[in-house]
Amino acid sequence: MAFWRTKKAPPDDSVSSTEAAPKSGGGLFSKMRAGLQKTRRTLNTDIRDLFKSEGRLVDDTLLNELFAKLIRTDMGIGPAETIRDDVATRLRGRVVHFEEVVQTITEQTRTMLQQESTELRLADTGPTVILVVGVNGSGKTTSIGKLANHLHQAGHKVVLGAGDTFRAAAVEQLTVWAGRIGCDIVTGKPEADPASVAFQCVEQAIATGADIAIIDTAGRLQTQTNLMQQLEKIRRVVEKKIEGAPHEVLLVLDATAGQNAISQARGFSEAAGCTGIVLAKLDGSAKGGVVLPIREQFQLPVKFVGLGEGVEDIAPFDPASFANALFSE
Ligand code: GDP
Ligand code: GDP
Ligand code: MG
Repeated sequence: MAFWRTKKAPPDDSVSSTEAAPKSGGGLFSKMRAGLQKTRRTLNTDIRDLFKSEGRLVDDTLLNELFAKLIRTDMGIGPAETIRDDVATRLRGRVVHFEEVVQTITEQTRTMLQQESTELRLADTGPTVILVVGVNGSGKTTSIGKLANHLHQAGHKVVLGAGDTFRAAAVEQLTVWAGRIGCDIVTGKPEADPASVAFQCVEQAIATGADIAIIDTAGRLQTQTNLMQQLEKIRRVVEKKIEGAPHEVLLVLDATAGQNAISQARGFSEAAGCTGIVLAKLDGSAKGGVVLPIREQFQLPVKFVGLGEGVEDIAPFDPASFANALFSE
């Protein structure tokens, strides 16, 4: 998480906390806990229901019941089996209490969520270029606004590129975010070539000495060949201006979209050369377990999680905090 300390001190937690976040425990962690509240409550109630106050024997019946509860968080069969089997290995044949099982599950989840890096890959010299892609409505533009604010707060000079020229509202939406944050934005004419907007955005970043250019794109599906080629064109144009750019291609996934949508995004991620995931809309869903199949199915780190529609509602993904926020009351 060093990247937001590179320019100036991190923002004071007392000003970044949202109305829903409890005061204690640090701004980002409490935000994560607040965002995952629904999942945590559901899981805890569900699993607690399996236990009597005097404890319960860990046998096949309990293990199967536990499996059924875990599945309800959208974590998928593979991860739920792994967790169940870990509980079996460690606790089978013993009479245990709820707390002990939850602790075991949390530890195993943390292990399964481990990944090499959550930090954004920044350019050594010249502006860093971040391209943001995904299907319609996944949360791209909102995530860009929140990410831009996060980076701006950390002392980076950010410029936005309104590369979704397909929907006029998308340009307005991003312009509102830029105004709110106080960062530059480059927009094109309606239906302009997104690659030309990307080009101008990178040019402006270089000209104004910006540290980071974040480029929005219209939603698309992997099957829309012409639109996938358009992404390729954006990459080429950006690469021509800055060697090694785009430094990040972030795939925005909608946490509420369900497992099928997420499996489909795998092909997309490969076709678009994605380098990391932003998991949006984790708040308000009882399915926060979905991050487990994402870690299982994508060879990509989850870099940020979206936890609401407000400007502060984004947090760098941290496996340990996430596992705790999923299970620990
Ligand atoms: P895009 O089409 O991928 O650019 O998606 P948008 O950024 O326009 O977001 C689509 C909808 O999802 C909007 O109503 C956003 O306010 C909402 N949204 C995006 N991210 C989040 C999030 O983290 N939490 C919640 N609750 N809503 C979100
Ligand atoms: P055509 O029928 O072969 O001309 O192709 P389309 O009508 O699908 O797309 C022409 C151009 O319009 C594309 O290059 C896009 O810029 C834009 N476009 C059309 N449909 C969509 C869409 O569903 N999403 C996005 N993002 N752009 C689209
Ligand atoms: Mg958008």
